[in-house]
Order: sequence, then structure tokens, then C-alpha cells
Amino acid sequence: MGRKEDVVKLAEKLMSNKPNIRNIGIVAHIDHGKTTLSDNLVAASGIINPELAGKVQFMDYYELEQERGITINAANISLVHNYQGNDYLINLIDTPGHVDFGGEVIRAMRAVDGAVIVVDAVEGTMPQTETVIRQALREWVKPVLFINKIDRLVNELQLTPQQMQEKFVKVVSQVNNLIKKNAPEQFKEEWLVKVQDASVCFGSAKGNWGLSALTIKETGIGFKEVYELCKKENGQKELAKKSPVHKAMLEMVIKHLPNPVVAQKYRTHVIWKGELESEEGKAMLSCNEKEPFIMMVTDVGVDPHAGDVATGRIYAGTAKKGLNVRLIGSQKNVQVSQVAVMMGAERVTVSEIPAGNIAGLIGLKDVWAGETISSKEEMHRFESFMSAVEPVMTVSVEAKNPKDLPKLIEVIRKITKEDPNVRATINQETGEHLLSGMGELHLEITQYRIEVDNKLAIKVGNPIVVFHESVSQESPEVEGKSPNKHNKFKITVEPLSKGMIEKLVEAKIDARIRLKDKEILQKLEEIGFTKDQAKNIWAIHNNCVLLNTTKGIQYLNETKELVIQSFEDATDQGPLAQEKCSGLLVSLNDATLHEDAVHRGPAQVLPAVTRAILACILLAGPILREPKQILTITVPQDFMGNALNELAQRRTHIQEMRQEGDLSIIIGKAPVNELIGFSATMRGATQGRAVWTAEYSGYENMPLELQIQTVKEIRKRKGLPEALRKAEDFMD
Ligand code: GDP
Repeated sequence: MGRKEDVVKLAEKLMSNKPNIRNIGIVAHIDHGKTTLSDNLVAASGIINPELAGKVQFMDYYELEQERGITINAANISLVHNYQGNDYLINLIDTPGHVDFGGEVIRAMRAVDGAVIVVDAVEGTMPQTETVIRQALREWVKPVLFINKIDRLVNELQLTPQQMQEKFVKVVSQVNNLIKKNAPEQFKEEWLVKVQDASVCFGSAKGNWGLSALTIKETGIGFKEVYELCKKENGQKELAKKSPVHKAMLEMVIKHLPNPVVAQKYRTHVIWKGELESEEGKAMLSCNEKEPFIMMVTDVGVDPHAGDVATGRIYAGTAKKGLNVRLIGSQKNVQVSQVAVMMGAERVTVSEIPAGNIAGLIGLKDVWAGETISSKEEMHRFESFMSAVEPVMTVSVEAKNPKDLPKLIEVIRKITKEDPNVRATINQETGEHLLSGMGELHLEITQYRIEVDNKLAIKVGNPIVVFHESVSQESPEVEGKSPNKHNKFKITVEPLSKGMIEKLVEAKIDARIRLKDKEILQKLEEIGFTKDQAKNIWAIHNNCVLLNTTKGIQYLNETKELVIQSFEDATDQGPLAQEKCSGLLVSLNDATLHEDAVHRGPAQVLPAVTRAILACILLAGPILREPKQILTITVPQDFMGNALNELAQRRTHIQEMRQEGDLSIIIGKAPVNELIGFSATMRGATQGRAVWTAEYSGYENMPLELQIQTVKEIRKRKGLPEALRKAEDFMD
């Protein structure tokens, strides 16, 4: 089979043959070899020359990825493979190994039913391996294991066959421990990976060979042969001929990972909390190709010619050109103008794609990753991806040539759609465009995309870390009076517990709450509020809670929306440095309101309530909270001292250090603020030999001795008066 078009023709034929479909993702710690492994599958299906597999990096089509050698965007590709006389359609998603762009692995997991976990035999399971296994299992995606880089055990570590086996046993048990810990109850036993049943493969993605218990039976090529051939010049080529990696892999995927019909039966209730007995529920449970059409968008790209390209999993119905659909979240009706199969960087248009497949839809204006698309006017939405990732660093961007401003706006719009972890805002005072992301590297890459991909020269400001303001104790009650003195509000502020804040972040609620929002009320109780409190929570904003503890106050209901707005304003710009607040419980304890609505309008209520909240915060032991990241650094032992030195200067709390062969692995938690410029100095200190990942790790209180200085710096940067605010400034 030759070119892409031929592959697509075959793929189209297979799309309705569901027992022969597998939707899979390949997940791994960075550098363990997932891209190389994907290339082998792509090569074997005839799209690229097999000689080049392992060198071309077909899936890393994005130029920057080639340059940096890391995978940033999950790329989709549909492949056809023949196994025992039957053709199978494998819809494959390659996921990023770099955690800085959190969320992408989870989104990819929503589109697939099975995951191949790649583990480097030398390094064993790494923190990122644990993360991706957890993410897969949380979505009820079934795992299998590929132990890679076996050639290194022989040639670099010079292990004996016996020692090699011991190494495998260790990796398999590490992975199984993670599966046991994270798998859904009903699959805890069934989903363990086993060498005997070939749900574990071994091999070298780079050397293009692989084996499993099944292939050993068929070919007679076992560990002894691997050991001997790896030592011989050209021996790996011989292995690749006799026991090619794609064969072992595909056998494992086809035998052990579920087809979409099987998977949708048990996954539907996990990813969708609507009524399973409804028309939509039944259609998804049975992976029905007829009406209604239901798809979850897992990725959005913007094509200069075609516009928004939404990629996702079709859970029911059939996508066709001309189909009228509803974007359930944005409540818009749109028409599908084209349906396509994704082939890495390219799209090939097809006439239709039925349920159980991964598809690209074109023409859905304003679609976003996470959206539920349906042929029904109304339906329950898919569960959100639940990642608690927040942007923690911001840069200002400006077009070098002012004439390019409209283009800059367009490019930013495009980038925020393609990467939901980039947020764009405009500084209302200066008119500057601000981009927020997951860290320095993430923003550097975003800059590269603007400048190189879109050929737009920009000036980028210094990175600024997003801090939060909070409190450490309960405030006394403060009475806020309106300018006309006719309205009074008694307010207290106190900190929410750490556990409650974590649950609140996880629940992702930011809303004005009504009594009929039963689902939210339920969630509030799960977070730890009593039933009575939950009913009296008026709003949640920036992970702060507004609670009404008053009873029977006249006119309060008519003033409620204004009180909520004041709460939102106060928590958007805290009193220390006008950063967002988080983790506050704001209680309205009493109020006196003027009987005439004219005298309790916005100009009266807003300042009274906002100022009282700000005064309370200043009286409640105000604190600054800073974002942290977990760094996992791999560095040759010779450079470990230098690396540790570099970390020590950046307030890093070292959590773990261990040796794997001649590599040292350091895991530590560091404030994002201290990591500005880290890439450059770390590379310098280790002659470029250190490799690391950074993972969002939430907000923590900043050490007290650094707070005042930092508050002053932020105030200066924002052009605020230097003197810190006092509670009295907000009380009259
Ligand atoms: P990814 O980050 O998981 O996508 O990893 P890549 O596929 O980019 O591989 C990382 C590095 O490991 C590259 O330099 C590969 O050439 C190398 N590599 C991949 N598989 C093997 C293997 O089986 N043996 C050896 N020795 N190197 C490999």
C-alpha cells in the first residue's frame, strides 16, 4: 500500500467495521521513545519509507518540535494494518511528553479507548509515567505496556540476559502498581499488564524491532537472540526483519485494547453524566451510527484557508458534509462544511465518518476544545476535562510595526483556540495585549508560533508571575456604608481550609448560584459546606465564596446582584497589589437598606460592599500566594552538583534524589517566580546535559519575609502608589 490517499480509501471502508477499529494514544515520560514508536507504526502502514522510521519523526511535524526534539501538540493519524488476514483501522494520537502544556494528554485520552505506555528500560517509570497512567485511568482508558530501548541494556549497561529479565520484572511491577492504584475498581485486576498474555512488549523503537510472548512463540526469536544480535554489528537490522516492532505492537493493541463498541459501553457514564436511558445515552452506549449525532471536541486547530478545524471523538451518529449541528456549550447552530481524516499535519476530506472514530470537522465557527457537538438542540454536556491547571505567567506582546496590530489580534485569537492553556487579555489601562501561560517555556513557544509560524514581528515584555492574595485568619466584622449613608453591610472574611480550596479548584465552579442549580449545590456539599450553607452561597469567583448568613432582610433580594458584583470586583483586585484573591470565605452577616430603590443603586452599594471586603482582608492577616512547579530533572552524575547549586539559588525544595545508572534524577518544587531565566542558566551550568519537565503544582503562601518586598515590586510595576494600603483606607 502506498500513498496517504490509498490509506484513507481503505480507512473509509473500515470506519463502520467497529470490531476492527482501535482508538489509541501513546503516552510516556519525555524521551522514552513514543514518537519513534509512532513512526514505526506509520512506516509500516506505508506512509513513510520504512528505512526512515525512527529518523523522520513524522508525528512531530511541527517545526519547533523538530528543533527542540519534543512533542508539543498531540497529532492524530489514521492507519490501516493487516493482522492475520484482516484489516484494522488504528486511529492513533501521539501526546506531548512535556508537562508544561498540561491538559493535552487528558484531552487526547477523551478521544481514545486504549493507551500504549512506553517506558525506557534503563530509566524505568518516571514521575511523568505516573502522571500519564493516572490521566489515562481516570478516563477509563485501558493500558498496555511497551518497554523500549532494550538495546541500551545490552550495549550501554552491559547487562547479562538474567539481569535484563530482572529489569523487565521491575518495570512491569512498577507499572502494575500504578495501575492498581489508579484503575477503576471493576478493572483493577483485569487491566494489569502481563508478559505471558502479551499485553507487555519489549523492543527498540529506534532499532525497529520488538517482541512479546506471542511473537516469541511464532518466530522463535527470544531474549537469547536479542542479546546476541544487539551485540553484533547490523544485528538489530536482522532483528527488525525477523521480529518487527510494529507487528508485536499491533498484535498487542488489537488483542488487548477494546474496540469502540466495547469501550463506549463502560466509558459513557464516566465522561457523560446525563441520563443513560435517554435517546442520547442509549445512542452513545451502543455506539450507534444513526441519529442523533454526538461528538466531543478534543482539539481545535485554525487553518488559514479552512478556518477552525475541530478534531474529536464521534460517540454517536455520523458526520457528513452539510450536517446542521448545535454547539451545546456556546449555544450556537452551525453547519459542517467538510469532514476529514487527520493524517498528521494533513487532512484528507472524506464523505462521512461514523460513530466510534476520531474525525476532523471543518466549518464550525467559534468551536473550542471541550465543546459538545450534537444534532439535538439540547443535551447534557460532556464532563469537562477537569484539569486544575491555571495560567501562572504573563507577558505583554506588541506588534513591532503598529500597522500589524489587526494581524496580531487575529493571530492571538487563533493561538488561544489551538492551545486552550494560553489565555489572552487586554490591559484596560494601557491597551497592551497580555498572554498568560503555564510557564516560561510555554510562553517562549507561543512567541515562536507568533513570530515564525505567522511571520509577525513582535516585542515581548518581561515575564510576569500571576500572584494571588489571600488571608491567614478570620477578620473582625466590618461595616461598609454607602456614600449616602443610607445602606449598611456587615461583612467578615476568613480563609477557606486547604482541603476545601483544592476541591474548589478541582470542581472548577465560577458562577452566580441559583437555588435551581441542583448540580452545583450538590458539589458544594461535596466540597464540605453544610446543606444550609450551600443554599445560601450566592456566588463563587476566583475560588472565593460569597455566603449570605442573614435572614429576612427587606430589599436584600433586589440588592443581591449588586452585592455579588462587589464581591467579584473585590476578589478580582485584592487590596495588597491588585492581584486576584483566592481561598476567601466572604460572609454577609447583616444589612440595612434604604426603602427607596433609587437610594440603593450601584453607585451606593458597589463601593460600600467592595470597600468593606477589602478592609476585612487587610484585617485578616493578608498574605501573598505564589504559583509553584514540580521540576523533574535528569542529569549525568558529573553535573549533579552544578544542577543542585542552580536549584538552591531558586528556593527549590528538593523532594527526591536518586541514581539510575550514571544519571541522577532530582525532583523538586520551585516557585515559578524564581524560575524566570531558568532554562538558560540550567543549560549553562550543565553544558546542556540536563533534561527536565515542569508541572503545575498549585499556589502556596509566599514566605513572609519576601511578601512586603514582592508586593512593593508589583505595585511599582502596575504604577500604583508605593505606600501599602491600610484597612482604614477602606473604612470611613
Ligand atoms: P518521545 O519524547 O517519547 O517522543 O521520545 P523520542 O521518540 O523523541 O525519542 C527520544 C530519544 O530516544 C531519541 O533520541 C530517540 O532516537 C531515542 N530512542 C528512541 N527509541 C530508542 C531505542 O529503542 N533505543 C535507543 N538507544 N534510543 C532510542
